[in-house]
Amino acid sequence: PSYITHDQRLLRLRGGDRESTFAMLKPDVASDTHTVDEIKQRIAEAGLSIERERVCRLSRRRCGKFYAEHRTRPFYPALLGFMSSGPVVMLELSGESAIGAWRSLIGPTSTETARKEAPRSLRAMYGSDNTRNAAHGSDSPASAAREIRLMFQKPAWRRLEVYAGLAAAFLLTKRE
Ligand code: ATP
Ligand code: MG
Repeated sequence: PSYITHDQRLLRLRGGDRESTFAMLKPDVASDTHTVDEIKQRIAEAGLSIERERVCRLSRRRCGKFYAEHRTRPFYPALLGFMSSGPVVMLELSGESAIGAWRSLIGPTSTETARKEAPRSLRAMYGSDNTRNAAHGSDSPASAAREIRLMFQKPAWRRLEVYAGLAAAFLLTKRE
């Protein structure tokens, strides 16, 4: 038998340290189906599973909300321009320590650093510079929750539409 600590036992009883994270394949790679498939392969190999997937083109406004913490940085305008320049693939990933696992799979922010320090990382393999760096990953449980909500929740008017549809169906149903 292997000996585990009390904390580890508690963790197992609670179902392990399963986490969710928000991953995004940026416009420099998202349109290349071959690259997207390769990245999905790496996700599977890392033991992560894809819970939700959404492909869309982000408005500048939504990119601004997403990267609000960087709004005073010099690279912010270029970042918004890049992120809204074409389709992105958004993924909710889950797995053991998913946040750290996905961040280590993507590698350091700068492509150049990634090529030196983590040549197998996604940014080393598919990135081109500091901004066009192939992928995004949440950096904490709080940002994962915020980003998943921001990118996967239907906007209020879409939810209203669902209620309006149900009400219309009810009203239009002939009753004896
Ligand atoms: P991300 O949040 O996209 O996962 P990160 O957490 O590694 O990346 P952040 O510091 O949060 O890096 O920066 C967000 C994004 O802004 C980076 O992924 C990159 O596209 C861009 N960026 C960051 N630093 C620079 C820089 N010095 N010059 C140009 N672009 C940058
Ligand atoms: Mg970040």
